[in-house]
Amino acid sequence: MQKDLFDFEEKNLNKNLSSSKKKVTWLSHTALEELHRCPRCFWLSYKEGIKLPEGIQSRLANRFDTILKRYFDSYREKGVLPPLIEGKIKAKLQSPFKESYYFKLNEEYGFFGKVDECFVDDEGNHIPVDFKTASSDPREKQILLAYQNQIDEYLFLMEENGKKVADFGYLIYFFPQMSIELTNGFPMIVHIVKIERKVKDIKKRIDAAIKILQGPIPKSSPDCVYCNWFLRVKKYY
Ligand code: SF4
Repeated sequence: MQKDLFDFEEKNLNKNLSSSKKKVTWLSHTALEELHRCPRCFWLSYKEGIKLPEGIQSRLANRFDTILKRYFDSYREKGVLPPLIEGKIKAKLQSPFKESYYFKLNEEYGFFGKVDECFVDDEGNHIPVDFKTASSDPREKQILLAYQNQIDEYLFLMEENGKKVADFGYLIYFFPQMSIELTNGFPMIVHIVKIERKVKDIKKRIDAAIKILQGPIPKSSPDCVYCNWFLRVKKYY
């Protein structure tokens, strides 16, 4: 799932809930990753609504996600796996599909996540899936800690929502293959990575984020190019 889709969901969720009596702050995987990168930016983003400028970004990955989701949806009712992954996974597509999961910690804070897809195995275990579109060969890549965290968080959310879950999730990479045979469409490498669940209870992670939000603004990272740039130019304002 792409960051800006999460941002969009998060913004709307927080906006809708802010109009209700008690304002609930909804955190997500993207928020926790932001905290990991820089607690100050995370604090500024949630407390003041000040986000780092993003510059020009490609929305191509979002388009890929939408197409992939529709492709998977088209096989859901038929009760079969899409040909792109057939024979590679021993499970069915969840039907009906539940995309969003919420977990309320207290009156003020909650955590939510949106899965790209979900499989259900023969024993009724739910297996979250995240689609990744890759610009370099994913078969040679190391799995980022952020992706491990993402699967742990999805499993936690599903479990908290009463689902029986497997002890793993999947990343499915889609990588356009180098070819001059494009007449019948872009050839695609589909690479499936099984991510074993490492951390069952992610409440500690969410609590750490809440603690930051409830405290004073954290210090800037000394290596951050943005803050360094700002410190140098601010005397000219
Ligand atoms: S150090 Fe960088 S990432 Fe952190 S608040 Fe400053 S601009 Fe944001």
